Amino acid sequence: MQPVKMEHPNEGIKCVVNSCYYYMIGDKCAAEKIEVHPRNANSVEETDCATFKPENEIR
Ligand code: SF4
Repeated sequence: MQPVKMEHPNEGIKCVVNSCYYYMIGDKCAAEKIEVHPRNANSVEETDCATFKPENEIR
């Protein structure tokens, strides 16, 4: 299920993906929780936030 977008940032997360629905000014994420993929990644480049959602996607 899609996480709730909170009114305040999730202080445990820094994120620079400013095209995400959950992004907040100051490189913050307002998602209640996030999920990171994939399993068995071997480098930083291989990992991605699976909770990302385009800002302009129809909801
Ligand atoms: S959901 Fe993921 S990509 Fe989107 S702002 Fe939060 S951490 Fe960044």
